[in-house]
Amino acid sequence: MLIRNAETRDGRIEDLRIEGDSIAAMGSNLRTAPGEIVLDAVGCALLPGLHDHHVHLMALATSLDSLPCGPPQVATAEDLERRLRERAALPADQDEWIRGIGYHESVAGEIDRAWLDRVVPSRPVRIQHRSGRLWIVNSPGLARLVPGAEPATASPPGLATGRLYDADQWLHQRLGGRPPSLHRVSHLLASLGVTGVTDATARNSLEEFRHFVDATTRGELLQRVVVMGDASLDGAADAGLVRRGPTKLYLRESDLPSSEELCASIARSHAAGRPVAVHCVTETEVVFAISALAATGSRPGDRIEHASVAPPDVVSLLAGQGLTVVTQPNFVRERGDAYLTDVPAREQPWLYRGRGFLEAGIPMAAGTDAPLGDPNPWLAMQAAVDRRTMSGRTIGLAEALSPEEALALFGGDSLAPGGPLSRIARGSTADLCLLDRPWSTARSDLAAVRVNATVQRGRLIWQSA
Ligand SMILES: [Zn+2]
Repeated sequence: MLIRNAETRDGRIEDLRIEGDSIAAMGSNLRTAPGEIVLDAVGCALLPGLHDHHVHLMALATSLDSLPCGPPQVATAEDLERRLRERAALPADQDEWIRGIGYHESVAGEIDRAWLDRVVPSRPVRIQHRSGRLWIVNSPGLARLVPGAEPATASPPGLATGRLYDADQWLHQRLGGRPPSLHRVSHLLASLGVTGVTDATARNSLEEFRHFVDATTRGELLQRVVVMGDASLDGAADAGLVRRGPTKLYLRESDLPSSEELCASIARSHAAGRPVAVHCVTETEVVFAISALAATGSRPGDRIEHASVAPPDVVSLLAGQGLTVVTQPNFVRERGDAYLTDVPAREQPWLYRGRGFLEAGIPMAAGTDAPLGDPNPWLAMQAAVDRRTMSGRTIGLAEALSPEEALALFGGDSLAPGGPLSRIARGSTADLCLLDRPWSTARSDLAAVRVNATVQRGRLIWQSA
């Protein structure tokens, strides 16, 4: 393949020849070889393919078939009721679940089973809260999950109200079924210039690892995948595009393990040659994780996922332990309006920080956390730059990054995130994305960027019509 007239990052216009899976030549006026695919970039920016450092592929695949139930798509109770009724009226098997995602109390308060029964009495409905921790299920749904049980007495607690907290594993067992196809997700990510992802799902085991290997072998999933997950992945061997990632440790302030337990998990992971990735959204969680890592000793690649609230003393602790932060600037945009209402004013400057982490020398990368966040990394980058919420207000403007810094968050080494964007050079692997405009134009509004073509290991996996 020959890419002509591409703007490489130092602003030069060059031609690139790709042979096999790598860049064989760069220069001006490269001659077309017989039978070669030629792509004319007409001066638009050619960048390394993006890597989403924190995403949940299977959940994203499922969410593409799900009904949005919260902001920004749905803002009011009437709107939610209308959408649910419309979905329930579509021709479908009466036993087929209606699955909603992204619910937030700002829409209709603390809705429960009775609320859902009133809107959709006849088909099973389950709606996920946007925190990912709560499912709200109606009576037909509960009857499917626990046939014949008396809701008030059966476990897990919450069956009576239909509000099931932290019941993912329980639901997963009861719903069963085959893992979703990753074809649509992969195509969507390719259209956004994403050539690699890190799947950050805590319950990923060898079974999911094999599913990712099979999906890439079949060509259903085109991106490289770093698979985080549980201790069973200690025994997983890298295969093709799929690599074993850190152990994902999920902390919850309301139900923290003992520090001995956390230290033992970290030590086990390190002994297996795997870094850890600790989910921390509250200040307590992040301090707890750092102190465990200080006790066991941290190793390169150890990371804190989210670090959503990081006041100055937390930033010093993170820097002192040499930890990487994987952040979600898209939450500034997507959830910022709720943060401005719900988060105390003195904590707002410490939310999803950017500049503060960089100045402290903390390696920082980003992931969209899709489907909990929008999978479009360009929207996330723009939010890292302008710190704007959906309604146009700003949060933590002092944390704003330059467009180049924001771009680098979605690049670098997938197993050692937080480094600089990789360079496009002769001999490097041809994971590339071609924008629809030069960088000088793109950098002023990253949210407006469209991707014209995406190349993964020398193969064109996306081209705009
Ligand atoms: Zn996540």
